[in-house]
Amino acid sequence: MKNVLVTGGAGYIGSHACKALLAAGYIPVTYDNLSTGWRDAVKFGPFEQGDLTDRARLDQVLATYKPVAVVHFAALSQVGESMTDPGKYWHNNVTGSLTLIQATVDAGCENFVFSSTCATYGEQDNVLLDEDSMQDPINAYGASKRAIEDILRDFEMAFGLKHVIFRYFNVAGADPDGEVGEFHQPETHLIPLMLDAIDGKRPALTIYGTDYDTDDGTCVRDYVHVMDLVDAHVLGLKWLEDGKDSRVFNLGTGRGFSVREVIDHSRSVTNKEVPFVEGDRRAGDCTKLVSGSERAARELGWHPERSTLQVMIKDAWRWHQNGHYDK
Ligand code: UDP
Repeated sequence: MKNVLVTGGAGYIGSHACKALLAAGYIPVTYDNLSTGWRDAVKFGPFEQGDLTDRARLDQVLATYKPVAVVHFAALSQVGESMTDPGKYWHNNVTGSLTLIQATVDAGCENFVFSSTCATYGEQDNVLLDEDSMQDPINAYGASKRAIEDILRDFEMAFGLKHVIFRYFNVAGADPDGEVGEFHQPETHLIPLMLDAIDGKRPALTIYGTDYDTDDGTCVRDYVHVMDLVDAHVLGLKWLEDGKDSRVFNLGTGRGFSVREVIDHSRSVTNKEVPFVEGDRRAGDCTKLVSGSERAARELGWHPERSTLQVMIKDAWRWHQNGHYDK
């Protein structure tokens, strides 16, 4: 079997990706500093603890496993925090990724799959976003990810590093088998915070802003099931192994839901009320982020079949009630 280096394999999306990679016949080698990930979430392959900025440690791990590809999830990803502490985002995300990309090239590994984000597009007048939309991020998180995309393009030109860039919309849900799930500390994402409010783990959900230019005044997002999202990574890896050109793909469903619509769906899935209060806008939030692209379906053959709010909330709720990590 072929090794794949998975940075951030102890995190939410990375741990689900390791499960999918193993099922597809790869050995996922997790490289993670455990700053936000969980040792208990590494269940499907070897674990190597290390930081993205530690070049010597990266060289050692790359030399040991000789991966056919690097799949790079590890990043700080909170929009709000990126606005109050931008240096942390530029350092961890950009310096860390640059170190990793240079080490990957120097180790002779030719394939790179990168987790980017729809936050690189920024605020765009209520349009659907495709891969050719202008990238004009309004928060440091999105700006840091766009910078890494630029680094990848330059490294392809200079060294031939082939890459697939996935621009995620909002990832939600959990492994239906309950082996891994979403567990952030602190939690900042809408669906897990809402489930916390439903079962009394926190007093209420705060809706961040009710005066946006949308039908009900709350922000609109395009939610994708984490299992669908990681399936796309397996397809992206095969794309590169087949020798195809570097490519950018949006991973979204093309359907947007407002915060209030997500609350309504949660009520119907859990049969419980969602305690909420209406609060101020959160700095850095875009009004609407919805993928308008069919490219991943057309070219990769990616069909996000689990990505209905019903299924995402059901799977998140199951994990929320039964799953957690201890360390
Ligand atoms: N949101 C909210 N209350 C919360 C957390 C999030 O109203 O406690 C809103 C947020 O403003 C955004 C949407 O829910 O419009 C999704 O936010 P999340 O943090 O889950 O993902 P992001 O879009 O920032 O990546």
